[in-house]
Amino acid sequence: MLKKLKKLSLIVLLLPSVLLASISVQHTPLPGGIAVINFSTNHANPKAFYNKIPLYVQRIKDQHWQALVGVPLYEKSGKKTITIQDFSTRELAFEVIAPKQVKQTQHITLKKKKKKYVNPNLAHMDRINKERPILSNARKVFSDKALSAGAFIRPVDGITTSVFGTRRFFNGKARRPHTGIDYAGKIGTPIKAPASGKVILVGEYFFNGKAIFIDHGQGLVSVYIHMNKQLVKAGQHVKQGEIIGTIGQTGRATGPHLHWGVYLNQTVVNPNLLLGINK
Ligand SMILES: [Zn+2]
Repeated sequence: MLKKLKKLSLIVLLLPSVLLASISVQHTPLPGGIAVINFSTNHANPKAFYNKIPLYVQRIKDQHWQALVGVPLYEKSGKKTITIQDFSTRELAFEVIAPKQVKQTQHITLKKKKKKYVNPNLAHMDRINKERPILSNARKVFSDKALSAGAFIRPVDGITTSVFGTRRFFNGKARRPHTGIDYAGKIGTPIKAPASGKVILVGEYFFNGKAIFIDHGQGLVSVYIHMNKQLVKAGQHVKQGEIIGTIGQTGRATGPHLHWGVYLNQTVVNPNLLLGINK
């Protein structure tokens, strides 16, 4: 009996460390990638910043910590620094390497009803301007603790129709590169939370259509757009694998698909890096 109890308490003791496991990402210090910066400290709660924006910080083992830096899509290559705050403040350098040559281009034709997404009128512009701060505030959410651990899983099984960074033209007009991954799927296909977290925004927006934002802690935020059904509410906690809604084609979408985006330190990064895929 005592042996059993001992075993049980050991499991209980081990559980928190399992739950607080770090997220694993490869060091990909190029625009749209994630720079993984190792540092040592005895401090229990060190902080790190890039361009004054707080970073995702995780303990690997003992004094070994990591700061994860989402590298902006338009960041120039060369030496950069992050600031570490523990018992004092210090700077750590890292190198941003040149972006990969983007080979993929995508020409998208929006017809009749969807033409407003290329040439919005004044009323649309008014709506876009009202929605902009709501969306950018959701991307800026920073909760002190990690809300997920381990590797992310794919939110849907469908085929990838557009990778991160693809150059895009809408009705012949150049628009910014693709800031997420598109998965094709039938309307109504369930979308799973790829990692645990807290829902921060559920709404319908001009370009994004029906969208959900999930906070995974420490500035790691994932977004799901062009949805059909939204099955969670803002403030709700979700577990990895939980259904949050279904695939749709709301907003600036020419066909049913899920657009999945991931933000780190308010910077859009390639979601594949959270799945352990380095491309
Ligand atoms: Zn997309």
